[in-house]
Amino acid sequence: MTPIVLLTFKCVKCGRKFAATSRIACYVNPYTGEPIVCPDCGSEEIVEIETLQVG
Ligand SMILES: [Zn+2]
Repeated sequence: MTPIVLLTFKCVKCGRKFAATSRIACYVNPYTGEPIVCPDCGSEEIVEIETLQVG
């Protein structure tokens, strides 16, 4: 079973914090293959601020 990693990101542009899950620590959604972007402004300029491994 692959561990799930819960990631918390912060948008560089607007400062919005949001969470996403990924099985590897890269900024790509494992389900859609799309880059993880800020839900507010749509920017791809995000930084990872917290990582929590769940499994
Ligand atoms: Zn943003």
